[in-house]
Amino acid sequence: MNSPHQISLDDWEIRYHRLKAGGLNEPWYGGPLSRHAGRGDKRLLSLRFDNSPPALRLWNFLLTEEERLHQARAAGGKIVGAMKDLGTAAVMAFSLPNVTAFYPDGAWWVPCIMEQGTGDLEVADALGIDESFCPVRAMLGAFVRGAHFPRPDLLVCSVGATCDDFSAIAQRLSSLGYPILWWEAPHRRRAEAGEAAVDLPGGLAAPAAQVRFVRRQLELVRAGLEELTDRKLDDALLAEGIAQANQFRRLLGELRRLAYTRVPCPLGALEMLVAEMLAIHFCSDRAEAIVVIGQLLDEVRRRSALGLGVLDECAVPVFWVNPVADLKVMNILEECGGRLCGSEFLFSHALDEIPADIEPLEALARTALADPMVGPASDRAERICRECRRFGAKAVVISRIPGASHCATESDIIADMVRNRLDLPTVEIEVPPICDADAPGIRTRLEALIESARQRT
Ligand code: SF4
Repeated sequence: MNSPHQISLDDWEIRYHRLKAGGLNEPWYGGPLSRHAGRGDKRLLSLRFDNSPPALRLWNFLLTEEERLHQARAAGGKIVGAMKDLGTAAVMAFSLPNVTAFYPDGAWWVPCIMEQGTGDLEVADALGIDESFCPVRAMLGAFVRGAHFPRPDLLVCSVGATCDDFSAIAQRLSSLGYPILWWEAPHRRRAEAGEAAVDLPGGLAAPAAQVRFVRRQLELVRAGLEELTDRKLDDALLAEGIAQANQFRRLLGELRRLAYTRVPCPLGALEMLVAEMLAIHFCSDRAEAIVVIGQLLDEVRRRSALGLGVLDECAVPVFWVNPVADLKVMNILEECGGRLCGSEFLFSHALDEIPADIEPLEALARTALADPMVGPASDRAERICRECRRFGAKAVVISRIPGASHCATESDIIADMVRNRLDLPTVEIEVPPICDADAPGIRTRLEALIESARQRT
């Protein structure tokens, strides 16, 4: 039982009490995972989890975010809801003492985790945001119901080069009386001949004029945070905030390198998806997120050194594009004989280190412009091809999100480039928030993909 395994929630119950009896040391948010299912997170009953204490801590950290936000409020802190940019505004907010940032967009996963038993989607329906929108519409229901997170003291939202879904939902939120500090990210383009260009994280580039524009927009965010806290958010504070974010990103980068390349696979796809999600806003506690990811990395290093893993050695390395609305599909990939060997979950700019050798706001502007969602799908496809090579992918899954408008043709652009440049088999699947009814079809398509990849080796 101590060797790496994937276990059910029931198995975790037994293991948890054994670990406790053996002296397991836990933070305040620790406890058996089963209690979350008892409070409504019913999807946990369908998942298979890594059996290590660091994975237990990771899940408990993820599933106690709401408590953490209420605690921060009760302690007199300010809460900032950062919407849409996924990785930049949160770094700025965390740079101020006594400020906690979170992404209300994270409600995206509530219909999955709580198996649609919350009423959030029904409220969104009633407000005209129906299922023709992507699962982020759950955020609207969450705001109106006052559920899943406290009402933020400040809401900021990036606009401009954003998807129709988010734009419509954020505007609806504003019309309901939620004041929003808007800032704009332009559609990233290549510099024209003779136009000054700036390198961005992630191997991208943009015209210097666009970087200057975003920097001015982030000045608005800085001013909003200063007004909220009555404290100056100077460059020294921002630089320290960037240094902390980079510490997390370096740990996550090493975790990805090991988990995606070592044979046997030292950590399953489900925990890797959760670990990557922490990069967006540190799950509302930056210092603890660094501890959680550090412990997970220690476990993966230990397993790698001992040649231990959670999957069969012949599991086929699969690169995954887009987050899944139903977490269970990460288990299904592995049950079909695959393993995750890389991912592009729409927020790759939150994984890249923020430049630390230039002015902080300039560095954050460059990071914001490196968002895969503000540029052309071909830039995403280029990065996916690079990462497929880096991590030795043998197949690529492009997972579509029901109702998502972020790019009507991105799947074709990505699949074509992967096939043309790498000659890898690809498949597109659509994953709804609860995939049980679609699971047989998803399995068939993943099994066919993996079989096809095996035949090529
Ligand atoms: S349409 Fe795409 S980018 Fe927009 S909120 Fe939905 S999943 Fe995110």
